[in-house]
Amino acid sequence: MTTNVDIKSEYKPEGLEGQGFFATSLDKAVGLARANSLWPLPFATSCCGIEFMATMASHYDLSRFGMERLSFSPRQADLLMVMGTISKKMAPILRQVYEQMAEPKWVLSMGACASSGGIFDTYSVLQGIDRIIPVDVYIPGCPPRPEQVLDGILKIQELAKNEGRSRRTSPEYKAMLAKYGLE
Ligand code: SF4
Repeated sequence: MTTNVDIKSEYKPEGLEGQGFFATSLDKAVGLARANSLWPLPFATSCCGIEFMATMASHYDLSRFGMERLSFSPRQADLLMVMGTISKKMAPILRQVYEQMAEPKWVLSMGACASSGGIFDTYSVLQGIDRIIPVDVYIPGCPPRPEQVLDGILKIQELAKNEGRSRRTSPEYKAMLAKYGLE
């Protein structure tokens, strides 16, 4: 019995193609691998963390994107997801977690509290995590719905896919880190 299985590639980088071969640049191949193997570290402090749990669970199933391996150690994570209110007391811990992550790494700020302090415009709450660490993608909402979280993660994947391998050692990147007092 013959079966015709039509296998489709969801995404294929630009390259040269012929009978039995495909060639592309190393940057594109590395970007593709990185984008589809992100290991998130969930830094969840309050209600947005619950919404993230819903995103992980069977209905929304974050593992569809090859990202089911949550990391609770910064040393084995490359996507820092900050969800919830960050108090000024906690800010140095968040920064330490960021610093312990190896390059390349990305940061996703989920919800109004992490992005701007949200409704907590008080002396004790950090008014946005971008005051202490660089952020790649912001997800608006209080709380954002799981669809928004998935959309934010897809945007991180796009960044990872299109980032050249040399970006992290570029003078521009180092200058951006220097603004935060990071090396
Ligand atoms: S943005 Fe809203 S849902 Fe998220 S942590 Fe803040 S108060 Fe809670």
